[in-house]
Amino acid sequence: MRPALLALALSLIAASSATAAEPLLPEARAYSSQDAWRQPVAPFRIGERSWYIGTAGLSAILVKTDAGAVLIDTGLPQAGDMLLQRMRALGVEPSQLKLILHSHAHIDHIGALAQIQRATGAQVVGNAEAAVLLARGGSDDIHFSDMLFPPVQVQRIVMDGETVELGGMRFTAHFTPAHTPGSTSWTWDDRVDGKTAHIAYADSLSAPGYQLIDNPRYPHIVDDFRRGFATVRALPCDLLLTPHPDASGWNPADTAAPHKNPLSCRAYADKAEAAFDKTLAEQRAKAAPQEKR
Ligand SMILES: [Zn+2]
Repeated sequence: MRPALLALALSLIAASSATAAEPLLPEARAYSSQDAWRQPVAPFRIGERSWYIGTAGLSAILVKTDAGAVLIDTGLPQAGDMLLQRMRALGVEPSQLKLILHSHAHIDHIGALAQIQRATGAQVVGNAEAAVLLARGGSDDIHFSDMLFPPVQVQRIVMDGETVELGGMRFTAHFTPAHTPGSTSWTWDDRVDGKTAHIAYADSLSAPGYQLIDNPRYPHIVDDFRRGFATVRALPCDLLLTPHPDASGWNPADTAAPHKNPLSCRAYADKAEAAFDKTLAEQRAKAAPQEKR
């Protein structure tokens, strides 16, 4: 090897060991996922009581109150042990986790929910539609057929606008049906940079490969998406988080500066609705010739 190349090779080795990433979580048997979704990152603070404990590509939020902790989303099934370890490292013993909230019933966001529920005894909260999907463990999904995860029984059903409280902190459920029928966004207040801030954990608003026109499984899908966009746009939202952190400008792999390109709830909803309108127009254009026949 030429000296210059050798020096380059050595510097690359040094750089990679300086930022030594933890090993990826194992690949799931029945569900392939992006590496970032399985890449653990060091937990970091979002607010005085709110922490990010997920992976590089999938959010899990821990909120510590005076009466125990709240977890929002888990990521993939194989993230369960990591999350329990992260909670312990932040001073939350399994028995101190009291509530588990979630965004939507897909394997990449609630995959470890059953494991965490068993390990902690925390109460699982969700709306009625999500409860059905969680109990069915991802079987016969409207858009993806089977996308199986360990089934979960929701113990407390919430209504749109209902608030759950723990240790004086209040978490409000906002129904944002779009990406799934039971999609839910959550808002709470925490202190960020010395000021009280409305934090919004707004659910996914994407329609990846969804049939939006004449969908026999979901005739009102377009109306529901419109409602989801409008609700997210109007959330109390000083700081936006999303189940896929990059969708709202977060980069959890950069724990020193994870939020370089913050998106507002309005901008997040506008961007998603523009993408949705484009897909809808394409599907309408394709469907039009058949309608004329
Ligand atoms: Zn999803």
